[in-house]
Amino acid sequence: MMNDRYELFNKLCFRHVPLSEHSSYGIGGIADYFAMPATVEQLVTILEVSALYGMDRVVFGMGSNMLFPDRPKQGKLYISLKNMADITVNESRWILTSGLPLSMLSLAGLFAGSSAFQFTYLMPGSLGAGIYMNAKYYKEQVGDKVELVNYIDLADPALAVQQIRAEDCEFAYKQSIFQHKPWIIVGAEIRVPEHDEAAIAHNGDIKRVIRKYQNSNGKLSSLSAFYSFFSSELRGLQDSRIRIEAPEPMMEIERYRTGNRHFTSRSCGSFFKNNYAAGASIGALVDRLGLKGAAHGGAIISPYHGNMILNAAQATAADVLYLKDTLSDAIHRQYGFIPEPEVVIMTE
Ligand SMILES: Cc1cc2nc3c(=O)[nH]c(=O)nc-3n(C[C@H](O)[C@H](O)[C@H](O)COP(=O)(O)OP(=O)(O)OC[C@H]3O[C@@H](n4cnc5c(N)ncnc54)[C@H](O)[C@@H]3O)c2cc1C
Repeated sequence: MMNDRYELFNKLCFRHVPLSEHSSYGIGGIADYFAMPATVEQLVTILEVSALYGMDRVVFGMGSNMLFPDRPKQGKLYISLKNMADITVNESRWILTSGLPLSMLSLAGLFAGSSAFQFTYLMPGSLGAGIYMNAKYYKEQVGDKVELVNYIDLADPALAVQQIRAEDCEFAYKQSIFQHKPWIIVGAEIRVPEHDEAAIAHNGDIKRVIRKYQNSNGKLSSLSAFYSFFSSELRGLQDSRIRIEAPEPMMEIERYRTGNRHFTSRSCGSFFKNNYAAGASIGALVDRLGLKGAAHGGAIISPYHGNMILNAAQATAADVLYLKDTLSDAIHRQYGFIPEPEVVIMTE
């Protein structure tokens, strides 16, 4: 039995994988070990056997909020959950797996006649990380939309899937309980607020788009591929037999994100969490400091949005960190506080 597990582990674990291919930054050295389980059972096998080998592990989603190291630690296993992308419609309840792109939720909402998830349209990243980060757009946040979160506690020898209610998840601005626990989010349950009959009727349509996504190359860690997939799926709904018009709030999101060049350069979105200690957003402070467009190596502070550090030309993690320190120091000197990074920085 255990031999089967070792065999499956060896099948699921790849050697010498460039992390840059699994990051929207396009940055990261070669991971010694890399896995992309497609099911919770595969994930449990990977966790079980890697623990027996005493391996260091990190779990992530689509890598749209992570700065991977230039030289990953030897022997470390990187586990991306982006292959675990599915929605099961169970009457008025959706059971979602953690690798589901957040943006898929906005399309599923359209099929169901619900506007509750429009804010996730074109938000890069996966549901699991969206819960971990309590990802938000304008006034709406992922934590307000889930009812139950399914997770595995790495401290539990049985690695059983457990559930926590949203009200116990300590959701706050870009925060959740998951940032303080050795827990891996494997999925969530959502109660769909409107027209659940429509969701059941269109279950096949949701599955069709998910299948298309699952077959897409590299599961869309590239921002331009991500944008072209979801924007063309949205427009396609208008012409299909379903005939769903793209709602204005989603078009407005698209105009905002394309206007800020979100999908034409490699980045992880906003680098720092917003902090209004000085009465303005971080982007506005960087603008006032005249640091937009400052460059180091292959990295540059976006000329369009002061809180974004871009990989303009083969940047390294070190180039990005140099600009991050430049911004932190300047904000500290001028405005008296040190901004907290939103991007998860893996230094090894
Ligand atoms: C152009 C652009 C625009 C963006 N706009 C927004 C925005 O408007 N609002 C916003 O909130 N964010 C935004 N982001 C950031 C990003 O989209 C979100 O943080 C998203 O939730 C990250 O998802 P991911 O799967 O890529 O996470 P990853 O980068 O893969 O992981 C991020 C963190 O989550 C942890 N994690 C991932 N999955 C799990 C899991 N299943 N269980 C436990 N921990 C996990 C990882 O360990 C890591 O610490 C933007 C990013 C980009 C590139």
